Amino acid sequence: MPETDDRWPAAPTRDDCVALDAEDPFAPLRDEFALPDGLIYLDGNSLGPLPRRTAARLRAVIETEWGRDLIGSWNSAGWIDAPTRVGDKIGRLVGAAPGQIVAADSTSVNLFKVLSAALRLRPDRRVILSERGNFPTDLYVAQGLVTQLGGRHELRLVERDALADSIDDSVAVAMLTQVDYRTGHRLPMAEITAMAHARGAIMLWDLAHSAGAFPVSLDEAGADFAVGCSYKYLNGGPGGTAFLYAARRHHAAFDQPLTGWLGHAAPFAFETGYRPAEGIARALCGTPPMLSLTAAECGVDSVLASEPLGGTRALHAKANRLIDCFVATALEGAAAHGLRCVTPAGHDDRGSQASFTLPDGDQAYAVVQALIDRGIVGDFRAPDILRFGFAPLYLRHVDAYDAAHALVDILTRETWRDPRFVARKAVT
Ligand SMILES: *Cc1c(COP(=O)(O)O)cnc(C)c1O
Repeated sequence: MPETDDRWPAAPTRDDCVALDAEDPFAPLRDEFALPDGLIYLDGNSLGPLPRRTAARLRAVIETEWGRDLIGSWNSAGWIDAPTRVGDKIGRLVGAAPGQIVAADSTSVNLFKVLSAALRLRPDRRVILSERGNFPTDLYVAQGLVTQLGGRHELRLVERDALADSIDDSVAVAMLTQVDYRTGHRLPMAEITAMAHARGAIMLWDLAHSAGAFPVSLDEAGADFAVGCSYKYLNGGPGGTAFLYAARRHHAAFDQPLTGWLGHAAPFAFETGYRPAEGIARALCGTPPMLSLTAAECGVDSVLASEPLGGTRALHAKANRLIDCFVATALEGAAAHGLRCVTPAGHDDRGSQASFTLPDGDQAYAVVQALIDRGIVGDFRAPDILRFGFAPLYLRHVDAYDAAHALVDILTRETWRDPRFVARKAVT
């Protein structure tokens, strides 16, 4: 794993930030989102905001396509092709040529499908390798699958910095989330994929915190399978339709267990026996959820709007300026209060978030609540992480600056001690 650079640049002034915003080519895209006035939204990594186009488009789908044209819309409105159409659009953001991604189901369900398929490609091996700190749903899905398969497999968990040394000849699948949801640390996709392949393992990436945040090159890295969410950086709406990638070279042997009718070679032949579709369509299971999928498509379009401005590369460059400004300003004012940044300073070593810790988890929770009370929305992740997502489509440099100063102020004046900030809510 590459060394991470832990040096942060100097904190800018607010005037510096105003000047950066004045020359920011992404500035006009902010109006594409229905953000409440005065809110600084640093949680687009958990639930992206509502693109204005989504409300208008959903209204048309509901009133015209569903309301007036009814069942004919499966053909006339292109509903039946939506999973592959939206999948191909997502492919533009994650470096996948057309015909290798479908938008379907949830990330958890898609993970079950690809992990099962990956194990079937390595019948002589028994180990699913992942990391202890992986997002829990990934671990739970793998545990469920191991049980389902009769307990002959093993989910082997290692620490993130031991991954490279842990992929050995017993590993059937390396199942990794590229960006750590707590710290924002990013794994080098091409390097780790090459290591897995050198040991004969299948490489499965979870792109939940990658898609739409920075350039991902699935094809170029030689990844075998991937899954990801639409509702984080892709702004696809709460619980929105997720996606699944299978490299074309695996399609003929891609054998997933949720063999529903839309993955059939001829769904409308209503045959008794299952025959998988050619190509990526065999990754589908049931009827596409058209309202959710419409929202997901609009969200993906909201990110594709960055393409004329340099796409994900330019987005990540701006995110890095925002993160550098936020972290440098916060540390300058609050390192003395025990604030530590756990996100790598190196631009290519992180996703699009900045995370801090405080000496006490209860304090970290209360500080996040105090920020939310001031209209600055980040989130808390157990046990002690204050997490802030930076989505450059709608955030300004002054937002990063103002949010950091509010954080410093809450710590300096100890406003977080207010009892209403300390009581925990169900969703943190
Ligand atoms: C957010 C997230 C998920 C979410 O899965 P759902 O099925 O949409 O609930 C999965 N994996 C990772 C790494 C995530 O960050």
